[in-house]
Amino acid sequence: MRKLANLINRLSTFFLDMDGVLYRGEAPIGGAAQAVAYLRRKGKKIVFMTNNAAYTRRAYVHKLARMGIPARESEIITSGYAAVLYLRKRAPHARLYVVGEPGLKAELRQGGFEVLPDNRAGEVDFVVAGLDRTLTYNRLEAGVRALLAGAELIATNLDATYPTETGLSPGAGATVGALSGSSGKQPKVVIGKPSPNMIKLALRMAGSRPKETAILGDKLATDIRAGREAGLTTILVLTGVTSKRDLKKAKGTRLAPDIVLSSITDLVVGK
Ligand SMILES: [Mg+2]
Repeated sequence: MRKLANLINRLSTFFLDMDGVLYRGEAPIGGAAQAVAYLRRKGKKIVFMTNNAAYTRRAYVHKLARMGIPARESEIITSGYAAVLYLRKRAPHARLYVVGEPGLKAELRQGGFEVLPDNRAGEVDFVVAGLDRTLTYNRLEAGVRALLAGAELIATNLDATYPTETGLSPGAGATVGALSGSSGKQPKVVIGKPSPNMIKLALRMAGSRPKETAILGDKLATDIRAGREAGLTTILVLTGVTSKRDLKKAKGTRLAPDIVLSSITDLVVGK
């Protein structure tokens, strides 16, 4: 415990993955709000992170508030917002087609990009793919035609599944898989974790260096891997998708976390 307290004192910045760390679906994880408040009291910088691009950052501010966690929009990074930051640098005038949810479209539009409708998908430079729980054949068809007409595929992330109250559900990987399977084009760029893109952008948002930063997540293949590759301290919590058995298998590999906690509440020393 003392070791953990020393570590927390030494770090200035915490990247908190949200799904499986602060909540599962709409159900908050017990004590998460208190743990975030504890980090705030200690003066830590926080970036709330998610690979889920289905909602805008503003929607996450509201979601966290419902769970008793106050947060500013400028503290939140989704793979959708990370796509905005990435595209602004690479192709600020790009025209896009989105195979994803309204939140992803809204984020890209707010970011200054033109998002074209189905019947003009053939004119776009990029197809941006994300979690899409209302995916239709028409949307898939428009996306595939855009890719066949020369657009590049950008994946917000490749998560096969994500945890909900009722179990695992298909993630953005399903959308990307459908587009790739039909067009023969793989995404050249993956924005979300474990790609180092999102970690780099989050470090820039916080104004922090890797050495002083920890990432807290529930998934070895994304949170922990991305954190390790970027040189962050990696903390796994067991409230999400990773079982103790998965953890055993990861021992000695590049997916092994520095620290394992049963829940984010274990951060609160002397609770
Ligand atoms: Mg997670």
